[in-house]
Amino acid sequence: MQGTMLYGPRDIRSEALPEPKITRPTDAIIRLSATCVCGSDLWPYRGIAPIEQPTPMGHEYCGIVEEVGKDVKNIKPGQFVVGSFATSDNTCIICRDGYQSSCVHREFMSAAQASLLRVPLADGTLVATSDVPSKEFIPSLLATSDVLGTGWFAADAANVKPGSTAVVVGDGAIGLLGVLSARQMGAERIIAMSRHESRQKLAREFGATDIVTERRDEGIARIKDLTNGIGADSVLECVGTQESMMQAIRSTRPGGYVSYVGVPHGVELEGAGLFFAHVHLHGGPAPVRRYLPQLIDLVLNEKINPGKVFDLTLPLDQVAEGYKAMDERRAIKALLRP
Ligand SMILES: [Zn+2]
Repeated sequence: MQGTMLYGPRDIRSEALPEPKITRPTDAIIRLSATCVCGSDLWPYRGIAPIEQPTPMGHEYCGIVEEVGKDVKNIKPGQFVVGSFATSDNTCIICRDGYQSSCVHREFMSAAQASLLRVPLADGTLVATSDVPSKEFIPSLLATSDVLGTGWFAADAANVKPGSTAVVVGDGAIGLLGVLSARQMGAERIIAMSRHESRQKLAREFGATDIVTERRDEGIARIKDLTNGIGADSVLECVGTQESMMQAIRSTRPGGYVSYVGVPHGVELEGAGLFFAHVHLHGGPAPVRRYLPQLIDLVLNEKINPGKVFDLTLPLDQVAEGYKAMDERRAIKALLRP
């Protein structure tokens, strides 16, 4: 089968790899309808998060179940399924509390930029649709697998409520879908921080009411101007750098909420600043599995169209161009067709 391996900085290759097999009785094998490149894939691609050996890539997926292990009860061959980047049994106390991405049996998925994928803990990890959806829904269903689920968690963890004011730091695909999520949750004012015209346009389509192009002190001053001088109720940090995290905390009003869903690289918080900021902090790897049934319904009922974040579609064997285009910010997010 065709799969994707990262060999080192900017050395990503599409290769013929052995087909995955059921290795545990709780596994399923799915034939992917589509997969994609994640912003977080760019950290190892750029060599910022170095890899120790050639590594199979990809953790966003949806497709048709080919085969299941003998202990899989609910997921059946022929079903269309979506799963999260983190596997979960969906039964332990952490899962039942809604934090499936920290399940006691969690594994992080990889190897999804391929034509076939083994999914551990299939019953807990995968969500099946009642029918096989038509082709036009595939990009949006794929988006629920990570990028929308993460944007949704960002809005939820930042306590976005009807009538509230939300700021979204980061105009990558997750930030843009954080805008969409904040809109769905009823935010009245949504301020997207973005310097890129095409991304500003999509942010507005998804529900942003204001765009702030400034950063650092000027950016914070602009947010304060727009929020009666006090900062926003909810701020969604969707990048993971020191600058974006401080931008988020300093743009939040005392008593407000900051969520952080970008994988942090070099972020350190200083105690006294945090103490006097008086904000709630809540983030981490998004428990996408918690939201999947609701998000799949919203897509299939045509309430949301998160698949618009895919502004580049390539055949799977051109995966290298997908990484390159995202690295150079020529594309927001690349969808790959096996
Ligand atoms: Zn669990």
